[in-house]
Amino acid sequence: MSSQRGNSSRTRSQKHKNRTAFKNDLHDKTLLQKKLNSLHVSEVCQHCKDVIEWKIKYKKYKPLSQPRTCTRCQQRNITKAYHVLCRSCALEARVCAKCLKDAQEVEIVTPQPTSEEQLKLKVEMERLIKSLPERKRRAFMRYMDKGKKLTDLDQSSAEQVTNDVKSNEESCVVKRLPHTRKELLEKIEMLQLSDADEYFDSESETGSA
Ligand SMILES: [Zn+2]
Ligand SMILES: [Zn+2]
Repeated sequence: MSSQRGNSSRTRSQKHKNRTAFKNDLHDKTLLQKKLNSLHVSEVCQHCKDVIEWKIKYKKYKPLSQPRTCTRCQQRNITKAYHVLCRSCALEARVCAKCLKDAQEVEIVTPQPTSEEQLKLKVEMERLIKSLPERKRRAFMRYMDKGKKLTDLDQSSAEQVTNDVKSNEESCVVKRLPHTRKELLEKIEMLQLSDADEYFDSESETGSA
């Protein structure tokens, strides 16, 4: 009995506690599970992202076996499970690809750029940094190629995994994302203003890289 009748608050802590957190890849070393764990859920609002990530975490996620029809353009080009809009429709309509809430109401997680978009961005940035000295240009390209760590609720599970498999390469566990155009432009601006080398080292996340 957790509490007395009519008394919804209890003072003792819960009896059963898991000593270790649930790990979805403890008995499942398949490539699919690995891929799912590093999936970047995007084009959806934060709530829907949480829902989808919960499904992944507790092995409830069912990937699509074939592309699904987009409810807006009627094309069979949805590749992500639980989405009702395709990538381009979601971006165009500026709504969550799952619950269809408007971007003005909820914040929508921006999708990872396609390799084409990434290439275009790189070309644009290379043009912008032409005026910078060689050393800064190289620092910028390192920054761009390195990307950033994914910092959201998934981190806690990622940390646990890293603690257990320290010997394994950490890079396969930590998710990384390319920087956004805005972040890159800010970086260029900072590089233009700064003249200290130390600046770049303080940015490195591991401290030893
Ligand atoms: Zn569509
Ligand atoms: Zn949503």
